[in-house]
Amino acid sequence: MKTSLNYANYEVKSGTKEQMMISIEGTDVKIPVTIINGIDDGKTMVVTSGVHSGEYPGIECAIQLAQEIQPENVKGAIVFVHPCNPTGFEAQVSYIVPEDGKNLGRFFPGNPEGTLTDRICHMISSNFLKEGTDMLIDLHGGDLHERLSTFAFVPKTGEENAQKTSMEIASFMNVKYIVMSGGGMTQYAVGQGIPALVLERGDRGSWNQQEVDFYKKDVLNIFKYFQVIDGKVNYFGPAPYVFEKCDMVYAPVSGCWYRAIELEEHFVEGQKLGEIKDFHGNVLHTLYANYDGVVHAYWEALSIKEGQLMVGYGA
Ligand SMILES: [Zn+2]
Repeated sequence: MKTSLNYANYEVKSGTKEQMMISIEGTDVKIPVTIINGIDDGKTMVVTSGVHSGEYPGIECAIQLAQEIQPENVKGAIVFVHPCNPTGFEAQVSYIVPEDGKNLGRFFPGNPEGTLTDRICHMISSNFLKEGTDMLIDLHGGDLHERLSTFAFVPKTGEENAQKTSMEIASFMNVKYIVMSGGGMTQYAVGQGIPALVLERGDRGSWNQQEVDFYKKDVLNIFKYFQVIDGKVNYFGPAPYVFEKCDMVYAPVSGCWYRAIELEEHFVEGQKLGEIKDFHGNVLHTLYANYDGVVHAYWEALSIKEGQLMVGYGA
């Protein structure tokens, strides 16, 4: 007989679903969470969304699945965090938690004594990224000023079996590319022995139900892989293309951004990918390709701030 689950002062009995707002200690902020505790024993899945608050297809995917999946159809448990950065969602800002200006994805496992970002990271990692969690799916997308193709980020390093399983799962996701790259919540999870990946779909502060449906199929496929819900894993067309190397290139200065490439464009080593100028047209920085490759993400807006992604590319 399956037992109750205890997370952050909440008890979720076997065969029930609880939707709750988890308080971030020392602040007024509450994080929306859904916990579905199945009837039978099985694996525990954690789905996070909205680490970056303008990445809407992932947030809406988590909102919809949290309502649709019923505990009688679950073996094990499923946790949805939707979204991780609700004050950013309200403020409609790219990348950051507005209270402290930090990128939530970069502060795991967090700190209970730190600023809001550190505390949210600590709440998520101490409750949901610990022993007993079998998979982390972190749903992202192109933020308000970002364009991107569809891809999965898989941490390059970490606990070996968790890294291998993450790669195996990425291979049946309905995305064009797999980017091997470290950092953030998924890197922390794989370091703890929890398989994890980031999924990227949708961009520029928009969303539609078709993108949400593609996301739901990918997430449900992962649940099927772990037999948390019944059914066979569906394989989509050709497997994603794996980038052996990948560069996420961030702006070294703020200014006006002029990109010189299109999404999914192939370019050659040394080709100009874009430049940053001041308001008088003086070039502040020029970005050249380090190798022959293809673009999977880029900054769309004219205004770019130091530290924002100019171009993501791989080969
Ligand atoms: Zn993101």
